Amino acid sequence: MVNSNYSNIVYWLGDSLYLNITNRCSNRCYFCFRHYWNGIAGFNLKLREEPDPKRVIEDLKKHISRRRWVEVVFCGFGEPTVRLDCILEVARWIKRHYPGIRIRLDTNGHGLLLNPGRDVVRELKDAGVDAVSVSLNGHDEETYNKVCRPDFKDAYKSILEFIKRAKNESLDVEVTAVRIPEIDILKVHDLAANLGVKFRVREFIPCFY
Ligand code: SF4
Repeated sequence: MVNSNYSNIVYWLGDSLYLNITNRCSNRCYFCFRHYWNGIAGFNLKLREEPDPKRVIEDLKKHISRRRWVEVVFCGFGEPTVRLDCILEVARWIKRHYPGIRIRLDTNGHGLLLNPGRDVVRELKDAGVDAVSVSLNGHDEETYNKVCRPDFKDAYKSILEFIKRAKNESLDVEVTAVRIPEIDILKVHDLAANLGVKFRVREFIPCFY
């Protein structure tokens, strides 16, 4: 049961701690989990306001020592790279105080478009981000635009560029796609293979995550 009186910035699933730093997103995917639920596993991910980095770190301090977490993941009810500077500050804090914990960013891959003029991938790497998991819900641009309804006209091309740059920076890169009828999973798999990165299918279970 999700507690609607309290918004969770930090939440956890298995051995991973998750950070929910924004509810803004540059996509409007028709299958988006946010259409069905206010949160996950009893955590309320609908933020009343975006927490500043200090607040994220304060919340993180309460939970990060509670057990041996394998990783901290920037992933919530929105696209984290909308708040690049927040990611960087929090990631730097984690690496300074808990260097053994892996840091992963789950992203829609729009980071370059959301932060024009910034060397986004290099900045993520320098701040201590180890891995990126990029949602690529379309085997081509037309399908992607239909399924994800991005704010940006060139989103698909930019995502591919983001993936290439992340690989060039030696980040651990994974591409994911949701199993829905519009997407040819095999083609996304092949695309990821051609880019030299891992691929993972995410099952679509409406109203049951
Ligand atoms: S990219 Fe993720 S958060 Fe954004 S609309 Fe799509 S599924 Fe929802």
